[in-house]
Amino acid sequence: MIGFGYDVHRLAPGESLILGGVAIPSDFGTVAHSDGDVLLHAICDALLGAAALGDIGEHFPDTDPEWKNVSSVQLLLAVRRMLRERRLDIVNLDATLVLERPKILPYKAEMRRVIAEAVSLPIERVSIKATTSESMGFVGHGEGVTAYAVCLLSPSAPSV
Ligand code: MG
Repeated sequence: MIGFGYDVHRLAPGESLILGGVAIPSDFGTVAHSDGDVLLHAICDALLGAAALGDIGEHFPDTDPEWKNVSSVQLLLAVRRMLRERRLDIVNLDATLVLERPKILPYKAEMRRVIAEAVSLPIERVSIKATTSESMGFVGHGEGVTAYAVCLLSPSAPSV
């Protein structure tokens, strides 16, 4: 089964910027109830979507104090558990971050490592890409950051 996820967060000065589970030095960051990790949120939604389990907002509502300022790696681990309970394996993940700055290249390897570990995948099955919005629109103007993700799930092999 294929899943697709999308997320967007507003950017503001003085907030922390955590993307793909990695804290990135920056004078601005995402405004959010959680840690605002737009990349992990898109990945969670792709995984939930592939299993037709709804969206991240249903499972981790921003009105629930349990999820306030929680690391989004915890959300990803929780989604992984839901898939396991349904005997679904993740085959691969592919995601794209869209933001104007800072440059993501120096952080990609660590993002892949963090995500691969959280979902128990080899790193070659986790792809993270990044691009800018060429100075156009709200992303291009530095007002926000977006992320897109797709994944493939397969039924777990029957245990012998
Ligand atoms: Mg989000």
